[in-house]
Amino acid sequence: MSRRIALIAHDLKKDDLVAFVSAHAAFFETCSLVATGTTGSLVKAACPQLDVTLLKSGPLGGDQQIGALIAEGAIYILIFFVDPLTPMPHDVDVKALMRLGIVYDIAMALNRASAEMILRSEEAGLNGA
Ligand code: PGA
Repeated sequence: MSRRIALIAHDLKKDDLVAFVSAHAAFFETCSLVATGTTGSLVKAACPQLDVTLLKSGPLGGDQQIGALIAEGAIYILIFFVDPLTPMPHDVDVKALMRLGIVYDIAMALNRASAEMILRSEEAGLNGA
């Protein structure tokens, strides 16, 4: 499997995620990406060269779709920029997704600092460091 990375960002974190993906576009070009609907559309608009599969919007089941992919062993890294200050109608889905990330022990970044560290390690691997 080529590295499949899942991308999700809550509304107030979407700009941050798009900036993060743009800054690492050369790395993300080596991966296949899946994303919740709105997040993925914004990433595609900013970086049309990336291979992004769009799932449903998070509140309409997209988080659960990504959870199912994790359960199938189809996700290598989850990058999920969470907004911890806004109540969400789909909070239970978010919790369930994080739970599966832990159950299946995948690399999971819930903020930019952690995402940067994971990518640093992956990019070093790509460069043979
Ligand atoms: P969205 O979903 O990318 O469709 O906005 C993200 C979420 O809120 O879980």
